[in-house]
Order: sequence, then structure tokens, then C-alpha cells
Amino acid sequence: MELLTIGEFARASRLSAKALRLYDELGLLRPAVVDPGNGYRRYAPEQLEQARLVAWLRRIGMPLADIRSVVALPGADAADAVRRYWRRVEADTEAKRRLAADLVEYLSGRDVAMTASLVVKYAVRTDRGLVRESNQDFAYAGERLLAVADGFGKQGDAASQAAVSALQQVNVGDLLNAMEDAAHLAGQAVRDLDGSGTTLTALLWSGSRLGLVHIGDSRAYLLRDGELFQITHDDTMVQSMVDEGRLTAAEAASHPDRSLLTKALTGNENPGVQVREGQAGDRYLLSSDGLHTVVDIDTVRKVIESEEPQQAVDRLVTLANAAGGPDNISCVVAHLIQR
Ligand code: MN
Repeated sequence: MELLTIGEFARASRLSAKALRLYDELGLLRPAVVDPGNGYRRYAPEQLEQARLVAWLRRIGMPLADIRSVVALPGADAADAVRRYWRRVEADTEAKRRLAADLVEYLSGRDVAMTASLVVKYAVRTDRGLVRESNQDFAYAGERLLAVADGFGKQGDAASQAAVSALQQVNVGDLLNAMEDAAHLAGQAVRDLDGSGTTLTALLWSGSRLGLVHIGDSRAYLLRDGELFQITHDDTMVQSMVDEGRLTAAEAASHPDRSLLTKALTGNENPGVQVREGQAGDRYLLSSDGLHTVVDIDTVRKVIESEEPQQAVDRLVTLANAAGGPDNISCVVAHLIQR
């Protein structure tokens, strides 16, 4: 077997010697032989294939730790791993695309005088449900803030309340700034509740603009032009499996582990934020999972579309309890109305 020097191998694989040394250090591609005297690396010609595979995986942006596991897999499993990685990239890119679109909208509207000022008409309701011993949800609706939080752990009720209270401290003037404050303050709010935490989904209003704060599996929906859109993305295990194409939305909805969160406020992580533009006629629903996992979405849409906020929240809680009320139920409904 004719071994190649690192220079020869670099030329043959079209990788730099520097990259090859890095791959060696990271355990992605070990030389066939390292001279114990001078430390020179030598490669076998058969290693070219693996070197090219590493280079291709680098080119599609796969993190080094993932490459390490992919190159060790048999072909079919490696193919699967690349497929899953790419779905993740696409989901991530889609999230960034939305952020960029929000930002474009935000910046384009910044210089326009706020002529069309909107009034928010809202109602809030939270209910223990029929099974849980206490209500660890916390919900709030006011002129500037709408919020739903679903606490968990020993001090879950304190956590959900603290997260929402933190948002009440936010001074909503300059919205981008306010959103950063909101994320930070909410993150801090639950720090000292030893492991207890909460989900948080909230809307902060500034004129016709609204900031969406979100972490966990509570949800925000928007009814516009007769259609109900979920405008938050669940931070759950099953949702990430849906994103990767490993589960359908229907399978996720009935999955036994559907309430397993990938992110929540526990003091280590801040919620994500988004800036959106409100329109007269928009209707918003914030809900904890005690509502949206037991009342089907089409029923929810009809209630939001046909009822005033107070009737809507009452009706939704009644429907969730009629479905067994297995969890605490919270909802906020808000209508955006031209002043
Ligand atoms: Mn819940």
C-alpha cells in the first residue's frame, strides 16, 4: 500500500493540509499512519472517499460533531442522517425568513405616521379544569399586554405569574427595544423558583404594531380573512419531529409525549420575540395547551369568528371542560378595531 504524504493527499482530495490537520484533531479523518518520530501524517488512497464525504458534509454546513457520527454510519443510515439534518436546516431557514420578513415590514412602516390607530377589545379566562388539583396557568389581558403562561413544577403557579408580571414592567415605546427587554425580563423572572418553570405566549401592543413573545407550547392564533393561523411554533419534541418530517401533524396531536417541551422558561433560556403588524379586523387567541389539545381547531375558529371576546373565552372554557377538562385551561381573545 502506497501511503500519501499530507501534501499529496491534500492535492488528491482538494482539501487543504490545514483542513486535514483539523479533521484529524477532531477525529473526523485520522491519517493511516502518524510517524512517531517527526509526527508527519500519511494517508491511504482508500481514505480519499471518506475525505471527500467529510468535505461535502462541511459544504452543506453540517456541524463537525454531526459529521463525526455520520461518517461512522453505514450508507443507508448516513443518508437518513443527512436527510434529517437538511430538514432541520430548512425549518431553521424558514424561521429566519419569517424574522427577516417581519423586520422588513417593521422597518418599512417605521416612518409612516400612525393615522390608523386601533383599539383592542379583549377578554381573558382561566380555569382549573376538571382533573388538576390547582390552576398553575396564569392569564392576563390589558390595554398593552395579553398573555398566557402555563406553569409546571412545585412552584409552577408562581412561575407563570412571575413571567407575566415581568412583561407588565416592560415600557412599550420603541418596540424592538421593548421586545429585547421583554425577553430578558421574562427569562429572569423565574430564576429563583428551583426548577419550576412556565411556558409564555404574549402580545405587547404599540400602536398598530405588536410584539409577540413566545416559549413553550402555549399558542397564539390569528384570525384574518376568515382563516385561523397559528402564529407561534410549539417548542415541543413532537413539533421538532414534525419539522424533521418524522411525524405528521395528526400523529403529533395524538402522540403520548406531545406535552414534552424542548424549551420553556426555567431561568436558563429567554423566550423568542417577533414583531408583527396588526390590521383592523384581526382577532387574536392566546391559549394554553389545556384548550388547544382538547378542542379541535375548526371549532375554535368558529367560536373566534362568531363571538365577542367575552362570550368567546367563556365558550372555549366550556368546550374544553366538556371534553373532560384534563388540564388547566386558559385563553385570551382580542379583537383589533378601527378607532
Ligand atoms: Mn397545560
